[in-house]
Amino acid sequence: MPERAPSPVDRSLPTPEARELVTLVRDIARREIVPAAAEEEEAGRFPRELFTLLSASGLLGLPYDSAYGGGDQPYEVYLQVLEELASARLTVGLGVSVHTLASYALAEHGTDAQRAAHLPAMLGGGQLGAYCLSEPSSGSDAASLRTRAVREGDGDWVITGTKAWITHAGLADFYTVLARTGGAGASGITAFLVPGDAAGLSVAAPERKMGLKGSPTAQVHLDGVRIPDARRVGDEGRGFAIALAALESGRLGIAACAVGLAQAALDEAVAWASRRRQFGRPIADFQGLRFLLADMATRIEAGRALCLAAARRRDEGRPFAPQAAMAKLHCTDAAMRVTTDAVQVLGGYGYSADFPVERYLREAKALQIVEGTNQIQRMVIARHLLGPETR
Ligand SMILES: Cc1cc2nc3c(=O)[nH]c(=O)nc-3n(C[C@H](O)[C@H](O)[C@H](O)COP(=O)(O)OP(=O)(O)OC[C@H]3O[C@@H](n4cnc5c(N)ncnc54)[C@H](O)[C@@H]3O)c2cc1C
Repeated sequence: MPERAPSPVDRSLPTPEARELVTLVRDIARREIVPAAAEEEEAGRFPRELFTLLSASGLLGLPYDSAYGGGDQPYEVYLQVLEELASARLTVGLGVSVHTLASYALAEHGTDAQRAAHLPAMLGGGQLGAYCLSEPSSGSDAASLRTRAVREGDGDWVITGTKAWITHAGLADFYTVLARTGGAGASGITAFLVPGDAAGLSVAAPERKMGLKGSPTAQVHLDGVRIPDARRVGDEGRGFAIALAALESGRLGIAACAVGLAQAALDEAVAWASRRRQFGRPIADFQGLRFLLADMATRIEAGRALCLAAARRRDEGRPFAPQAAMAKLHCTDAAMRVTTDAVQVLGGYGYSADFPVERYLREAKALQIVEGTNQIQRMVIARHLLGPETR
């Protein structure tokens, strides 16, 4: 069954420019994203050309400095744009979020010369980015990563190791890579900007995932990849702090994607409940279903509020790490629950691949895992309340 364009969410946006942005995104979603979403997800096709369009439309660098091709938008606006994109197709919303995450290190910690050299292409010049922190033996315990970067006599760095679960692997024009340049632990890690066509960089076969099949995820092998020191981002040993700061903001992106996905599921459920008749009446007349739909809508609205409250703290320059973790935790758990309930509202049809809600359910599961599992989010929140586990 062809998918509908998402129903417009009534948004509070701070400026006329932000309202225009959301109108532009809705137009692109209706014309370019929604019509192909189901077919391309089934075929496992990533819409690379769509990302070129998003870049040309100024939508791949929204929260970054306009002096380098960004959009100068507050996170409050960027997240609402992301929510709209994820509502149309999660592969697209997540892709924009991962690209923004991959751009963070250079945009926020690069030198002026590095920013001038690389950011315009990354933020508005059609490039697509990937963020390489996870490895086969280090996921939640990311600071134990083993990929090594060794400085040669001429000052170049030579990077060797394997990164795992990398979104956009094989398609990315640049990879933000975290590698060990010093001793064990977080303080031995440095960030590098590796070009997609670097000699020695290769990509394994894509992971065979239960959902998000249009979004390529694969291991990236770095086999003696040589890059100049000018591609080291931030000081030696500062890489892990940069990676965590990127994730703090990135988690808000994942939360916004979860809200968008859940909204799409609710829209399907509401439309179906009004249309489907049993016992001589629309099933929407039954209180059992009305209450289910009311709970779904409430979970989504609470998630949206949490997400935007954290974003506004970020926009004001206030600390927002626990709030971002709460938003990621709540919104992705809500998306899992809401998409499961949407399948229930559609009954047997919900369990069929002819309707989008079973795909939404499979996609929601990934959001509870990426950019720090929800157990890790709880650890972040608890640490804020209680201090570190061992003192
Ligand atoms: C679709 C997808 C896309 C991804 N994209 C990227 C990407 O672009 N870049 C990237 O770097 N990574 C990416 N990842 C990797 C992702 O960040 C990791 O999968 C995630 O951090 C979890 O690591 P892990 O899979 O190794 O699980 P593990 O760390 O092995 O965890 C296994 C289980 O143990 C739990 N656990 C671990 N430690 C604790 C603890 N201390 N307390 C309680 N529970 C704990 C976890 O919550 C989880 O339930 C992606 C993953 C997926 C599925």
